[in-house]
Amino acid sequence: MQQTYYRPTFVRINLTAIKTNIQNLKQMLPTHTQIIAIVKANAYGHGDIEVAKAALSAGATQLAVATPEEALRIRDAGITAEILIIGAAPASFLQKASELNITLTAYSLEWLKAIQHFKRSLKVHIKIDSGMGRIGFVKENELKEALIFIQQNSWIQVTGVFTHFSTADEEEREHFDEQAERFERLLALFEVKPPIVHTSNSAAVLRYPTQHWDAVRFGISMYGIAPSPFLSKNLPFPLKEALSLETEVVQVKKVEKGTPIGYGAKYKAIDEEWIATLPIGYADGLLRKLHNQSVLVKGKRVSIVGKICMDQCMIRLNEPVPLGEKVVLIGRQAAEEIKIEEWAENLETIPYEICCILSNRIPRIYSE
Ligand SMILES: *Cc1c(COP(=O)(O)O)cnc(C)c1O
Repeated sequence: MQQTYYRPTFVRINLTAIKTNIQNLKQMLPTHTQIIAIVKANAYGHGDIEVAKAALSAGATQLAVATPEEALRIRDAGITAEILIIGAAPASFLQKASELNITLTAYSLEWLKAIQHFKRSLKVHIKIDSGMGRIGFVKENELKEALIFIQQNSWIQVTGVFTHFSTADEEEREHFDEQAERFERLLALFEVKPPIVHTSNSAAVLRYPTQHWDAVRFGISMYGIAPSPFLSKNLPFPLKEALSLETEVVQVKKVEKGTPIGYGAKYKAIDEEWIATLPIGYADGLLRKLHNQSVLVKGKRVSIVGKICMDQCMIRLNEPVPLGEKVVLIGRQAAEEIKIEEWAENLETIPYEICCILSNRIPRIYSE
């Protein structure tokens, strides 16, 4: 049942866009290559359960998350697809992982030793650190030792092996090639190749469409966002953005020249101006540093003025508008568009971070 919302501030998620991105990727991949939909961090702020369902219906065959809690949410929703936790899961989670068919990442000898007592069936993917410097096996002898350990503990079922690239989104490819090479060197130590070998994130799969093993991990670009400015200029197919952020005008006032607006009274109306209040603020993810970001009203860009408050902000209109006038902060309105990339540039960060800062206070509304 659809919940009733009172505040007119919404994140709208177009699930068809997500499905289209998956279908377009699928068409590009060899038929045996599976798509693992990355739904960590509440599906990059898009809503984990809804996105997981849409992704699976569009051809993704597995899911991946970062934490045990994220995996449990997916199982609690009744989704039975394979789930891989790509982050470090503690030994205290083994029982649940085994019961609920959640695959864990085996990333070090210490981790394997810490789970040694378990002795009930458990699926793992082995993580190779080929040059990212975070979790994973780096050295050949350490991996060899781990493989022997696993042989001796046959309740540990290795269903996959993977690595992660740190520079696949950049033009320069030397480090990428080095990582691919190092990964293959360590992969050669497996007597039997695990069923699913996977290396590519969105950037790697979009950039190097032929080298993908058995599965790819599709994250940011499943949501229609290019992993980097370099990749946005070099995409094999157009990405469709799924997310927009909208609100409505709750008050409009005509103010005289010099009228102070917002905390600190730092902004003063430059002339006689139409100032509107919007019910969205930094507690929603509209960070104070976005004070010079524009928003769309009647298909035109207008500026935020004054300091952004916790729950509200003010904009300067070109003309008076009725209460309830639609305002787009991210997304398209008529011929204009504000992309997540624009916020990212404005905040000197990456689009990934923007997806994660749109707070859970904003309801997500889904359309097909
Ligand atoms: C987050 C993550 C991904 C997804 O990366 P995108 O750039 O969003 O496609 C893939 N693999 C691992 C290990 C990750 O942590």
